[in-house]
Amino acid sequence: MTAQPHFAIAIDGPAASGKSTLARKLAKRLGLVMVNSGAMYRAVTWKALQENIDPHDTPAVISLLNRITLNCGDNGHTSTIAIDGFDPGDALRAQDVNANVSAISAIPAVREKLVALQRDYLNRTSIVMEGRDIGSVVFPDTPFKLYIDAAEHVRAARRSDAGEVDSVAKRDAADSNRTTAPLVVADGATVLDTSDHTIESGVDAAIEILRQQGLPI
Ligand code: C5P
Repeated sequence: MTAQPHFAIAIDGPAASGKSTLARKLAKRLGLVMVNSGAMYRAVTWKALQENIDPHDTPAVISLLNRITLNCGDNGHTSTIAIDGFDPGDALRAQDVNANVSAISAIPAVREKLVALQRDYLNRTSIVMEGRDIGSVVFPDTPFKLYIDAAEHVRAARRSDAGEVDSVAKRDAADSNRTTAPLVVADGATVLDTSDHTIESGVDAAIEILRQQGLPI
């Protein structure tokens, strides 16, 4: 057996903490692929809403999950997603998806399927993956783990500046209190608060933490 040649940098944190921007910039600087795991949960939610499935109806969501084909790939820079061959694009960030994604992502069978797809990336490439349980569940053994945080009013302002209607506090409460894979600071993760950082100074701070965690950069 040969050792896995690829590695993952795990970036977790609450909604609108700045983790997506940070993950994208980090991946670019380090020449890695950025994987947005939230897009996978959003894609399943979008499909359920398309089919008028109640996100709280677990058997109906599981039946949907067994019917659909999810293709998770990358374009050399960022992850790509197609659900039954279709990329929903900006529809993944629609208000109804924001409002229902936490219910869908709390279903253990959904998580099991998506975590397997997330782990599969390492068979192909090294990644920066962002989400809620990347350091705790998806890649618990990676030494490279960041937990990105920001004050709640800063996060709410970031979402509305982006023109999105999203009850950040409600989603965070649901994601933090669910039974399976709740949002936590993973063992070994370093917390980085981005409230007072610019994007570039946040990336510099993240790189310094990763260096301390042993990334040879
Ligand atoms: O990161 P983003 O805000 O797009 O994630 C959308 C939702 O997907 C989260 O609020 C959470 O319910 C779910 N999610 C998750 N685990 C992940 C990534 C996202 O449960 N690793």
